[in-house]
Amino acid sequence: MAQQPTASKLPSSPAQLNLTGTCQCGSCAVTAEGSVALGALEPRICDCAYCQQHPSALISHPQMSVVLVVEAALVAESKNGSGQATFYECSRCGQLLAVGAQVGGTARGAVNAHLFGDLSRFAAPVPIQPRLLSADQKAARWSTIWGALDVQVQQ
Ligand SMILES: [Zn+2]
Ligand SMILES: [Zn+2]
Repeated sequence: MAQQPTASKLPSSPAQLNLTGTCQCGSCAVTAEGSVALGALEPRICDCAYCQQHPSALISHPQMSVVLVVEAALVAESKNGSGQATFYECSRCGQLLAVGAQVGGTARGAVNAHLFGDLSRFAAPVPIQPRLLSADQKAARWSTIWGALDVQVQQ
């Protein structure tokens, strides 16, 4: 695949990620931390029916931990096409926050990079078509690309 010319990235702290963001309406807060460079994260644009309605650019990395803090009344959960993964979205603004599943007994997932603002800080986005994968292929893929996802639902 052709390499995109990389825009000037500022490697001020090359391997230490510390992102905070919120959904469009500000109701749901998310943080992402880990030993990974921003430029190593490729936002993935999914073409499934759900993601067509909830545009997102998912980022994840085995070395990245995502914490989602939401009020119970403000988070909506739905399942992906194969029923394996859970989509978390803000029930006020409808923005997709994160997607996750239990992988190998631990909660793992990916977060919507749009919550952190400007996508140009990340690697060039890549299109994905997970609907073409079998359930086993998806689980295997997630185990290699997803990091920890901690969803803290507050009553
Ligand atoms: Zn919201
Ligand atoms: Zn999708």
